[in-house]
Amino acid sequence: MTSIFSKIVKGEIPSHKIAEDDNYLAFLDINPLAKGHTLVIPKREVDYIFDMDDDLLAGIQVFSKKVAKAIEKVVPCKRIGIAVLGLEVPHAHIHLIPINRLEDINFGRPKLQFSNEELAETAASIRQVLEK
Ligand code: 5GP
Repeated sequence: MTSIFSKIVKGEIPSHKIAEDDNYLAFLDINPLAKGHTLVIPKREVDYIFDMDDDLLAGIQVFSKKVAKAIEKVVPCKRIGIAVLGLEVPHAHIHLIPINRLEDINFGRPKLQFSNEELAETAASIRQVLEK
């Protein structure tokens, strides 16, 4: 199903990209629960994560691991929490969220507001770690 995330993949709408390869793209969530809150998606259009074929599903975990390790170098936290909801955007995605306590990954609480410049700066710092 075509969604806003396919438009991000095609570059038709902007995003703060973190990493990409042939199959996956990571970019900052526009309404984050924490600084560095990142979404990892398959480039292929799949709505439900458990409809992804086995190789694509296994690969997104490995891709997410690399991204998570870079996020935690930029955003001090106890660990990177992962969550899959998919209630808003019908394109499979994994949330990577720096957390220190349970409430940090509570999707019911108000989202944080960062300026476009702040998001760009965070994305650039994470990309820099990945490039090392
Ligand atoms: P979910 O589908 O997992 O319930 O939530 C979708 C997530 O995608 C939300 O955290 C929301 O902030 C994020 N999101 C929705 N639209 C956009 C967008 O256009 N750009 C970015 N970067 N994130 C988005």
